[in-house]
Amino acid sequence: WKYMTVANLANAMGKSVDHVFEVMMYVDNTVDYDKSTSVIDSLQVIQEIVKKSGMRARTVSPPDLSDPERINKDATKWPPPDPSVLVKRPPVVTVMGHVDHGKTTLLDSLRNTSVVKSEFGGITQHIGAFSVKLQSGETVTFLDTPGHAAFTAMRARGAKVTDLVVLVVAADDGVMEQTVESIRMAKAEAVPIIIAINKIDKQEADIEHTKDMLLPHGIQVEDRGGDVQAIPISALNGTNLDTLTEAIVLQAELMNLKGDPRGRVEGVVVESRTDLHRGKLSTAIVQRGMLQKGTVLVAGLAWAKVRAMFNDRGQPIQQAPPSTPVEVLGWRELPSAGDEIIEVESEKRAHEVMKWRQSVKLTEKQEAEREAVECKIEEHL
Ligand code: GDP
Ligand code: MG
Repeated sequence: WKYMTVANLANAMGKSVDHVFEVMMYVDNTVDYDKSTSVIDSLQVIQEIVKKSGMRARTVSPPDLSDPERINKDATKWPPPDPSVLVKRPPVVTVMGHVDHGKTTLLDSLRNTSVVKSEFGGITQHIGAFSVKLQSGETVTFLDTPGHAAFTAMRARGAKVTDLVVLVVAADDGVMEQTVESIRMAKAEAVPIIIAINKIDKQEADIEHTKDMLLPHGIQVEDRGGDVQAIPISALNGTNLDTLTEAIVLQAELMNLKGDPRGRVEGVVVESRTDLHRGKLSTAIVQRGMLQKGTVLVAGLAWAKVRAMFNDRGQPIQQAPPSTPVEVLGWRELPSAGDEIIEVESEKRAHEVMKWRQSVKLTEKQEAEREAVECKIEEHL
């Protein structure tokens, strides 16, 4: 209600602005009306106006500042995606699978195979996501939080950050409860799956049986007549990891993943924490635009003016294009994993968005009260 202007109200009532002003002359209590902005701050006054005009008020809602398309006023500053400027972006991969099937071991091994690491000698930091640069020059980004937790947190907030799932199935154990659960989740999100049949170094490993076990769950691997890639690996020994990453790149190519490096920055929070020395930090995956120092961001109930950025090796970076994991400094509060990040035009706008979002987070009681008042307005047909 705070955002209701005379024009809003006129629109909601299906009347002209002049009409509303006229009615307002007959409303005693217009102290909450701000002439300079023509914002009516009081629900009571609005009710009065509706009542006095004998008009029907349609349900009136303030602008939805959670909508990325409306969050910024200056639309020209934020051009819509233009297919001609889209550039290829690396796939973002989530590793899922049953407990103890080797998710953490696989992520550790993949992190260690990174060419970049040997090039720069940097030590990878655990920031919630990392990128692996392959011999072929391709890059693959992995979410470092294995399995359900990450997926669930993202999904709960409607964020879609995962392009494909690597499902780890231990060849000595086969398909287990959480394997099935992971398949279900990936399918629900329509995210393609690549199977990593793990622990093939073990004597008890049965690769063929593992493939068969997947069939009843709708996973038909290539040599069972389907199109799901299945790569036998040993995460522990690093066997076939290059084949696995090639399979990922192949799948990504089929998906033709593109990102728009211009315009308003959009992304997703992957992890958030407070560092003893550096303060509030979050790891983000940029999905659109080019994140840089000074950019003002909102995410959930938090906002930031980007003070510095670091890559997954802890090195300062100036720019983060789509699909890049980046550690962001400058948050005033901590955003939550899965929160959608959106660039806003100014700190002022960030404050407005925060204020609005706080107000949306009304307690149930307030919400009920508000609904009751809306009903009353409807009654004045
Ligand atoms: P997670 O629960 O899925 O993250 O599984 P972990 O990565 O923690 O692995 C569980 C256990 O399996 C650990 O003792 C690992 O050392 C072991 N493990 C993982 N990958 C392999 C593998 O390829 N071969 C063998 N022999 N053991 C493995
Ligand atoms: Mg683990």
